[in-house]
Amino acid sequence: MATLVTSDRSTQATLADVPDPELDGLVAAEEERRGRQVNLLAGENVASPRVRALLGSAFADKYAEGYPERRHHTGCGPADSVESLAVARAKALFGAEHANVQPYSGSVAVLATAAALLRPGDAVLAMSLAHGGHLTHGSSANFSGKWFSVSPYGVRESDGLIDLDQVRDQARAVRPKVIVAGAISYPRAIDWEGFRAVADEVGAYFVADAAQTLGLSAAGVVPSPVPYADVVCGVTHKVLGGPRGGLILCTRELAERVDRAVFPFIQGGPMVNQLAAKAYALGRAATPAFAAYAGRTVANARSLAVALDARGLRPLTGGTDTHLVTVDARALGLTGREVEQRCESAGLLLGHCAVPYEDAPPARGSGLRMGTLSVTTLGMGEPETVEIASLIHAAATSPADRSATEGVRALAMRFPGLSTKPQCGS
Ligand SMILES: *Cc1c(COP(=O)(O)O)cnc(C)c1O
Repeated sequence: MATLVTSDRSTQATLADVPDPELDGLVAAEEERRGRQVNLLAGENVASPRVRALLGSAFADKYAEGYPERRHHTGCGPADSVESLAVARAKALFGAEHANVQPYSGSVAVLATAAALLRPGDAVLAMSLAHGGHLTHGSSANFSGKWFSVSPYGVRESDGLIDLDQVRDQARAVRPKVIVAGAISYPRAIDWEGFRAVADEVGAYFVADAAQTLGLSAAGVVPSPVPYADVVCGVTHKVLGGPRGGLILCTRELAERVDRAVFPFIQGGPMVNQLAAKAYALGRAATPAFAAYAGRTVANARSLAVALDARGLRPLTGGTDTHLVTVDARALGLTGREVEQRCESAGLLLGHCAVPYEDAPPARGSGLRMGTLSVTTLGMGEPETVEIASLIHAAATSPADRSATEGVRALAMRFPGLSTKPQCGS
């Protein structure tokens, strides 16, 4: 007699193991793609095998709405310990008074921060999207642009750098409730202390969306926003090389508001497997090996910028202090999107962006945006960044020639991906 509830273990095993060759094939295709491409996408890294194992661990099934010791579900003992560990590691790593590690992603961290500090219609000062700001900094397609009155500041035309005097003038005129600093394609260290001073002058909260660079700050490679900002938003999957996901650091004073904004205002239960993988990444980021990685990442970005410059791709702002490299592709007579597509055909992944103050609409922007997180994780160094610059140039200027594709494939084979064998407990 068929029943839904069965104690027959073999039936359970069969249900657990229903084959799915279609999906197996897609996973194999993704592994194969990674194996032959060289990844310069600015926000992507290669998560360690332990991170991937933790994401697939028993914590993947657990519901744990609330916070440690204050859960809406039972059975949360180990989950409480995992979240507390992640919080303790985040606070120690960044020297923060409070950490919330539950945000599902960086965008959700910014949304929760807005929910904690703002009401619909409030004035916000944030970096212009055309000059490197993120969608959550005022895009008309995003909650930020729809719910708040966002006044965008840009970079200086002469050198591409943020001009704090201009930010101050704008802040005095707009009187924002929140000033946001941080960007997706600004390769320079940001003067967090200077932004704090502007925020104090106009009585605004200062929010640092440091999703790109917080990991570099943990290693001491660029200044940290934590001593200066009221709230810092970050992610664990970029520099930190951990799981996809966000985190928020804030002052003790704002802790309660931030926590309530994440749960129950925006999210339901945290992904406990993600919390476990975040805890691991935050622990690893405190090691000398991670500091050395962060240093190599920036050295690789500097060397890539110099090598691209030598091939006529002028670095915007003149160089970089971070893992990010942005260049002007106009000398090649191509849009950024065209270079991006030609590079993809050759197996090189990078992004297009606008060049501040150019006339073209964003879709026809002339900039390229890349980063050295993945290639550095795989062990590439400065000689390889020089090789990459010439491959980018060859792919863009001689798309019919197979030599760039062959060069990319050979480089990728010399630096294969990390083993994906689960290593928890090993
Ligand atoms: C990556 C990034 C985000 C968004 O992170 P997601 O996890 O993709 O939502 C937000 N702000 C900045 C500055 C970023 O670099």
